[in-house]
Amino acid sequence: MLTDNFNRVINYLRVSITDRCDLRCRYCTDSGFSFTPHPEILRYEEIIRFVRIAASLGVKKIRLTGGEPLRRKDLSFLLKQIDAIGSIDDISLTTNGVELADAVETLRDAGLRRVNISLDSLRPERFAYITRVDAFDKVIRSIDAAKRAGLHPVKINTVIIKGFNDDEVLDFAEFARNRGVQVRFIEFMPFGDGGLWDRSRIVGSAYLEEQIRRVHDLHPSLNSEKGPAKMFHLNGSTGQVGFISPMSTHICHECNRIRLTPDGKIKPCLFSDTEYDVKALFRQGALDNEVADFVRSAVMAKPERKVETTGAIRKCQRSMRNIGG
Ligand code: SAM
Repeated sequence: MLTDNFNRVINYLRVSITDRCDLRCRYCTDSGFSFTPHPEILRYEEIIRFVRIAASLGVKKIRLTGGEPLRRKDLSFLLKQIDAIGSIDDISLTTNGVELADAVETLRDAGLRRVNISLDSLRPERFAYITRVDAFDKVIRSIDAAKRAGLHPVKINTVIIKGFNDDEVLDFAEFARNRGVQVRFIEFMPFGDGGLWDRSRIVGSAYLEEQIRRVHDLHPSLNSEKGPAKMFHLNGSTGQVGFISPMSTHICHECNRIRLTPDGKIKPCLFSDTEYDVKALFRQGALDNEVADFVRSAVMAKPERKVETTGAIRKCQRSMRNIGG
């Protein structure tokens, strides 16, 4: 079992498999961005080795993310290899949904259990403005395809940003109710690119919850998985809404995860710029037990608490595109 200095059990690994993405969300990617050169990106065999070592230490849940994970060739090969490790209980994917519809059954058959699809607007024109790509219909098609493929639950990640999409909160609740999906509202976090982040753009979860309660009965979801989201059922539907509140609530004590970046750095904490270069270790020929010790050291470096809910907020250097959301 992997335990950190504060007795948190670390059993969840998020792997960002590429920093490439087919969307250019204004709050995530600024116009001057550049992609990491291919040789600097972890090869599949390196990712699989890392996951195998992490699994041997007690990691049970894997989420593949990016950039856009579907931009990477042969994603189903990677899923199959991770599934074949045998001790991973849950393999999920975070995607923008643009290319998912046609791939979802293949991915499911390769071992994918669940999917989170990011969607920040239900208005096609606004979606195109935020993402700089006209792909709204494709994302909706992917949401429906994921449900049909039996991936359950289908979660929609929605970052609410003041002045961007904060007038769509009730529309998203209605979308969750009508489509029987989970919409999870995520507070806007201070990450690298984009230049857009500012405290005044955060829309707190408490405000969102209050807006939805004016129209819907919300019943706390008792069987929701452990995780940072506070989930609620919407009356008369299998749909749910949830709130992820890193900027307004202290959630670090519940943290059970570490991250692996596309360029092979272990990130013990999403909000800290401290990184452990495991790619260098791999490429210097380190043995598995040396890598395992390195992973343990990274876990021990997890800070007790990093998100500041008051006072000055320091912006993290990497963008989410480069960390893996
Ligand atoms: N391409 C995939 C996708 O669109 O879901 C995975 C990568 S994307 C960076 C993962 C998630 O991070 C998305 O839901 C996106 O909205 C979220 N995200 C990006 N920047 C963020 C920020 N500053 N605060 C909160 N969420 C952010």
